[in-house]
Amino acid sequence: MKFGNSAWQKTLGLCVILMLAALFLLPNAIKPASAAAQSSIVLDGQMIDGAEPLVVKQTTMVPIRVVSQQLGYLVNWNQTSGQITIGDSSSPLVLTIGSTTANSASGSVQLEQPPFVRANTTYVPLRFVGSQMGLGVKWEQASSTVYLQSPAPEPQPSVPPTPAPSDNVNNASIDSISFSDNRLTISANQAVTPKSSTLTAPDRIVVDLPSSAFGPAMLVNSNLSLGQVSTLTVENSPLVKQVRYSLFSESPSTVRVVIDLKQAVGYNIYNEGNLIFVDLNQQGTAPPIGSNGKKIVVIDPGHGYQDPGGIGFTGVKEKDMVLQVGLKVAALLKQEPNIDLIMTRSGDTYPTLDDRAKIANDANADVFLSIHGNKAAATSAAGTETYYADAKRSKKLSDTIQKHVQAATGFRDRGSKQANFVVIRKTTMPGALVEIGFLSNQAEEAMMMQDDFQQRVALAIVAGLKEYLGV
Ligand SMILES: [Zn+2]
Repeated sequence: MKFGNSAWQKTLGLCVILMLAALFLLPNAIKPASAAAQSSIVLDGQMIDGAEPLVVKQTTMVPIRVVSQQLGYLVNWNQTSGQITIGDSSSPLVLTIGSTTANSASGSVQLEQPPFVRANTTYVPLRFVGSQMGLGVKWEQASSTVYLQSPAPEPQPSVPPTPAPSDNVNNASIDSISFSDNRLTISANQAVTPKSSTLTAPDRIVVDLPSSAFGPAMLVNSNLSLGQVSTLTVENSPLVKQVRYSLFSESPSTVRVVIDLKQAVGYNIYNEGNLIFVDLNQQGTAPPIGSNGKKIVVIDPGHGYQDPGGIGFTGVKEKDMVLQVGLKVAALLKQEPNIDLIMTRSGDTYPTLDDRAKIANDANADVFLSIHGNKAAATSAAGTETYYADAKRSKKLSDTIQKHVQAATGFRDRGSKQANFVVIRKTTMPGALVEIGFLSNQAEEAMMMQDDFQQRVALAIVAGLKEYLGV
């Protein structure tokens, strides 16, 4: 489901009807929706943790980030301009704090109430979210509950989409670049045949990706127009200083990735589906990932770059905490002889939720684990919890991770539960999403930023993965 011009036009009328309906249906007060009991948002039958609706001047307002990310949208918040951008760069929806006008590619849309920020959370009118994202919306006053229903999968469009300019039509889109386990992983939307070479003084490996260009998620991360170079920091590697990447040429379109080495080293470069691996293990004699019965583990530190995730009690960003934990997990897994590791991100980058799932699916991974920190409006909310999307496929993994991580945190045991998060819904192997603790809880936030605590959690995650995989 993407924002498209026709969808905008179709939903405009519906939006007006819903706005009128809202005036009659919604409670007549200016108050948190939680006047009676705790109010909540239920998406596709699952309560969204930490997402509390508020009622302002008869309009139910919901936290936009939580809702849109559950649905797999990119959400970008620009503090300077006060603007929230939802959707990909081709047809974004732009809302402005304090303004009742939202803008899209096809024109402007009026909101019943302007978006506002409260406790680091941006709220927008529920009906607007529903109509613009094609969600079914129901407000149940008795239980202070908002029910959202995501649409059935879209039928294939009867009119083929407008083709891109002819010289770009066959270009692969490079969606993410990460480095872990002495291995560079490049994810594309189609198979790309890389060309590699080495250079000396200083030592480096140059990988050219013919007929390739950067995809939207990478373009959001940084200026990657022709000649602009972005750097991926690589920490604690004995072999690699950093990884740089750029659009090397526009005609023909070529992406260049350079691995800056600390010493000359052999490497093995190969494809696995739409993934490209440059493996520096064993001086390049390492067999392809997953060979010799090794289990492939994909670790996904949540959020990244423009998406900070939850903002903690004292302002800790979830994306930073989960990357720190993820890199500690990576360092531990690197020492496991029977596990090959892929990270969806190893720096402050933002692969989309779909990209993250696709990396794991393309690699035929054995296990996918997404690492997160939790957030709730109530600062008293506390504890560790782990989610699976499909019980048959993933409950055992989720239970095992929860058991180990909760024992390591010592936080309240919130259990192993079902939820339809995009990354665990779209991965085809056993997958789980662990919420280590609540960043909105002062004590848990402080703990989660401690190095030794993070190490303990990382060890627990590795222990859980190993128990589950039987390695
Ligand atoms: Zn998160």
